Amino acid sequence: MNSDMAFDRAHIWHPYTSMTHPQPCYEVESASGVELRLKDGRILVDGMSSWWAAVHGYNHPLLNEAIQSQLKKMAHVMFGGITHAPAISLCRELLDLVPSPLECVFLSDSGSVSVEVALKMALQYWRGKGTERKRFLTLARGYHGDTFGAMSVCDPVNSMHSLYQGYLPLNHFAKAPESRFGEAWNENDVESLEKAFKEHGHETAAVILEPIVQGAGGMRIYHPEYLRKVRSLCDEYNVLMIADEVATGFGRTGKMFACEHAGITPDIMCLGKALTGGYMTLAATVSTRKVAEGISNGSAKCFMHGPTFMANPLACSVAHASLKILKQGEWKEQVKNIEKILFEKLSPLKFLPSVKDVRVLGAIGVVEMHEPVDLPTVQEMFVNDGVWIRPFGKLIYVMPPYIIKEEELLKVTHAINIVVSAL
Ligand SMILES: *Cc1c(COP(=O)(O)O)cnc(C)c1O
Repeated sequence: MNSDMAFDRAHIWHPYTSMTHPQPCYEVESASGVELRLKDGRILVDGMSSWWAAVHGYNHPLLNEAIQSQLKKMAHVMFGGITHAPAISLCRELLDLVPSPLECVFLSDSGSVSVEVALKMALQYWRGKGTERKRFLTLARGYHGDTFGAMSVCDPVNSMHSLYQGYLPLNHFAKAPESRFGEAWNENDVESLEKAFKEHGHETAAVILEPIVQGAGGMRIYHPEYLRKVRSLCDEYNVLMIADEVATGFGRTGKMFACEHAGITPDIMCLGKALTGGYMTLAATVSTRKVAEGISNGSAKCFMHGPTFMANPLACSVAHASLKILKQGEWKEQVKNIEKILFEKLSPLKFLPSVKDVRVLGAIGVVEMHEPVDLPTVQEMFVNDGVWIRPFGKLIYVMPPYIIKEEELLKVTHAINIVVSAL
């Protein structure tokens, strides 16, 4: 092991790892298009888009250009009392994409923070109306980030609520939907949710959920009718609806936003991950004017949040460039082709004894195993096959950059076939 790797192991935390028993890491030297180049010269086709983010691939000329030209003007300036063109152009472009009547944007640092902001907006909205609504209603198997507010609405088992008992806010959970996308709708699916509304609707500030795809909590892809029911229950019980589109936003599921599969608009939408095309950390919480005015007319007279690096100009400029690429619309055809190939090449794996289920939607492919995979072993097998795929638990899943070419995607699905058949 060279000394950099030894230093890394001894001193640097990686996501969800131990400092005493760290998992092996691969040093990436550069990345371009859909390829990651390792320090040892090996080249891997990327199946992960760096966790949903790098939708246009790496080292993209237009995204590079956006950052470089902004850098010559200013890297950063505070957003309190100051505004700037990168933020304005980004928000204009963003509001053009999101469904109406979402029209007020709060920019922040990361997906988790965009969720914190959404939760705070909902609490402040009801406080502004002089109503006591202090709980959130959400779904089992959900994932909304790793900060405390976000964690309090994540699946209690997956996110190990027990570790933080006594510190986490207590919220209400309904059963996760079972009806699958593209299959028959089972009306019983909403029973648990209806019960939760009946019992807790009066004290619920908002429902928060991931539309259509429950991501990190299990990569479950559910029926749009569920989302329509959520919307109508929210209307019936006068509860706000927060759609966490941090993972699903910007075309990943085949629609610009996953909410569009159900034809509904939430009161608040959280965006992140692919917002900057995977270049920099930036997130947005977009609300209706009704929500924004409810907050602003409350006793605080303002929304109580303001990150130091709010609306960072470099991040805004690259996000703006990324949205402009999306606006050209090529992603639709690209995502459709990815979906077709993932479906063709992954579906047959269903019949292997070690495989529990295969699911595909848009540019997302999931192979769920019966047993958790041994991560270091499986990771090494994928690397040896020339692809970057990072399984978690029982799930081997991919969400490649939209620009991936057919032969590159076939390399990814071939590697999955090889690895899964060997397990
Ligand atoms: C990743 C994710 C988050 C958290 O985003 P970070 O940028 O990691 O803080 C929140 N919600 C969903 C649905 C996500 O997939």
